[in-house]
Amino acid sequence: MNDYITVIGGGLAGCEAAYQIAKKGIKVKLYEMKPIKFSPAHSNGNLAEIVCSNSFKSNLHTNACGLLKEELRILESLLIKCADKTCVPAGQALAVDREEFSKLITKEIKENKNIEVINEEVGIKSKNTIEEMSKEGIVIIATGPLTSQSLAEQIIKITGQDRLYFYDAAAPIVTKESIDMNIAFWGDRYKQERQKEESIEEWKNRIKNEEEQNYINLPMNKEEYEKFCEELVNAEIVTLHEFEKREIFEGCMPIEIMAKRGIDTLRFGPLKPVGFTDPRTGKHPYALVQLRQDDTNATIFNLVGFQTNLKFGEQKRVFSMIPGLQNAEFVKYGVMHRNTYINSTELLDETYNLKTNNNIYFAGQITGVEGYVESISSRFSSGIKCNKRF
Ligand SMILES: Cc1cc2nc3c(=O)[nH]c(=O)nc-3n(C[C@H](O)[C@H](O)[C@H](O)COP(=O)(O)OP(=O)(O)OC[C@H]3O[C@@H](n4cnc5c(N)ncnc54)[C@H](O)[C@@H]3O)c2cc1C
Repeated sequence: MNDYITVIGGGLAGCEAAYQIAKKGIKVKLYEMKPIKFSPAHSNGNLAEIVCSNSFKSNLHTNACGLLKEELRILESLLIKCADKTCVPAGQALAVDREEFSKLITKEIKENKNIEVINEEVGIKSKNTIEEMSKEGIVIIATGPLTSQSLAEQIIKITGQDRLYFYDAAAPIVTKESIDMNIAFWGDRYKQERQKEESIEEWKNRIKNEEEQNYINLPMNKEEYEKFCEELVNAEIVTLHEFEKREIFEGCMPIEIMAKRGIDTLRFGPLKPVGFTDPRTGKHPYALVQLRQDDTNATIFNLVGFQTNLKFGEQKRVFSMIPGLQNAEFVKYGVMHRNTYINSTELLDETYNLKTNNNIYFAGQITGVEGYVESISSRFSSGIKCNKRF
């Protein structure tokens, strides 16, 4: 029997699991296939890379995700500690500078004397299959929604079931300097709502004076909004394979699909103008697009809620119709991607242990949890149970 625990996948869940196990004085071998091989969404060599939005959602304790984060802080989560250290302004949400965040975690993990990082894709050599590894000791599989094909095939073997897919989407990012700030204005929806008693003049002065640089807001009038929606629903999307036309996760619906549900869907959804006043007109906008800061230096911003499947050229054409983005420089376009997950409720016990193999655990989004914070938190059950077995 090994005197270490094997963790496969150096993403959010894998790093948290490795760290929590190592904290108890137990050795960990952490396998990460980057930088030798990259999934379609990962692009840098660091551990715990966050691939889309830089937001870990709300910090408020009245919100489920805010409460979960607070519990993780109390439990001394490495990843939430690093997120707090590398946060960027985002109102009541916890958003991070993604580069700084994964750099910091990589440093913490690599400097931990109980953790050995092995850059290798698990599943491609006969010796490093999950079956072989689990004969020798405990293995935690935390390879995420984009688990490599070879490993996914092994998971089918050990679970005895087909993989299940659903599809998800990521939003585009633009440079700050390309946004027309004569049209755009700074502000946080909730801050504005709290201060809505003040007059327009007072508000304009405050916006001018205050460093309220959380979100950049792009107001739209009725005509601009309707023209935008018309182009959006008729824009060309990438060709989908038959298997890609299956379910799409409702919470991450591509914007063009949402727009097809009805002319008002977007302005009651991601383009809702609630709580804002357009400083140019002093009136409430008909619709409003929000851009969220994406790096510490506030040089790039993501389009909130704009996950999309449009062809890149079409993204440039249609999103540039949004007032303020007419000259936008896109540093990243939105993409669709596959999500792989197992049927956890049937396959795992309450500690994420595979019912048919006492030595195999799963953690992170591959178990069916959705989102950064949820993936981080999912490691606790498996990590704690593994610790207890040593
Ligand atoms: C395109 C995209 C957009 C997303 N957008 C959001 C969002 O906006 N907000 C949000 O909260 N969540 C989002 N998610 C989900 C988010 O990525 C996950 O919740 C989170 O990253 C899952 O953490 P994880 O540790 O389970 O997997 P990951 O963070 O993906 O980590 C898995 C790691 O395993 C490695 N790996 C894979 N196969 C192997 C192998 N065979 N051998 C060794 N290593 C391997 C990968 O390289 C990766 O580093 C998005 C996911 C994708 C793919």
